[in-house]
Amino acid sequence: MRALTISAHGGLEQLQYRDDLPIPELRGPTDVRVRIAAAALNHLDLFVFKGLPGVTIVPPWIMGGDGAGTIDRVGDEVKGVRLGEAVIINPGISDRSCAYCLEGDQPLCIRYGILGEHHPGTMAEYVVLPAVNVRTIPPSIDMVAAAAFSLATLTAWRMIVSRARVGPGDQVLIWGIGGGVALAAMQIAKLRGARVWVTSGSDEKLARARELGADETINHATEDVAKIVRARTGKRGVDVVIDNVGEDTWTRSLGALGKRGRLVTCGGTSGPMVETDIRRLFWNQWTIMGSTMGNDAEFDAITDELRAGRLMPPIDSVHELRDGLRAFERMASGRQFGKIVVRI
Ligand SMILES: [Zn+2]
Repeated sequence: MRALTISAHGGLEQLQYRDDLPIPELRGPTDVRVRIAAAALNHLDLFVFKGLPGVTIVPPWIMGGDGAGTIDRVGDEVKGVRLGEAVIINPGISDRSCAYCLEGDQPLCIRYGILGEHHPGTMAEYVVLPAVNVRTIPPSIDMVAAAAFSLATLTAWRMIVSRARVGPGDQVLIWGIGGGVALAAMQIAKLRGARVWVTSGSDEKLARARELGADETINHATEDVAKIVRARTGKRGVDVVIDNVGEDTWTRSLGALGKRGRLVTCGGTSGPMVETDIRRLFWNQWTIMGSTMGNDAEFDAITDELRAGRLMPPIDSVHELRDGLRAFERMASGRQFGKIVVRI
């Protein structure tokens, strides 16, 4: 089969297009095999090139976490999924047996792994995974949008709905609009009735975010985000900040956060070490939360939103598998607005 792989760590030059890989077989009776129609990139994929602590890849390593396609083979014990059905994939693989899994909180699984990082990825003609990691979707949904949906939307749903519990009237500040998680967070916060503030270093991206429903926009390269938030809210600040940037933004996030505020992070793309003044933390009664991926119930919830057409990921660009390098170069440039997709 055809696939995008790496065989050593390094930069994007390690990416190899292959057409000689074996089609994977089911590993157990609860697995399914998906014939992939499209796969989408996430920032995480760039970390896989460099290598992640404690993660060993087996060459030729197939890239990609997000994907959508049709069910091609079904294990004997699989229920509720049939051959030929269109599906989206939850890239988070859990053991289904540890205490966290049994509580229904799979992202905390002690053996948690992600497709393309700990397990062979989706940028291939076929992927084998547990049937509990797929959900059926109507054939009317475009496979490019379906492929672009899962990881970013699942991550953002857990942050906005389950962790920050955003509700009507909440003011939500989201850094770096244009990235998949930031855009999904904006869409979900709007669905929950929040007033949404977004930042970007690009005025063009801010204009596009406005078209998609952003209420307030701030250019974080030229403007003082915390000062503007304070000024436009009568010094009150926002209720929730979604910060995936880390070192570059943390202090400004706290500067914009009002009393009883909640800050949620699912990453630190600019660096992981930040400073927090605990006097301001306790006096303002802030809550600082981490979040990653999503559980089965959250996967069900976002699938319902996709089926109903209430959530649909903005697409930046679509690339052919053979030209996969261009997709990764686009991701590395940071110029994208929406998801970058590879058609298989
Ligand atoms: Zn587990």
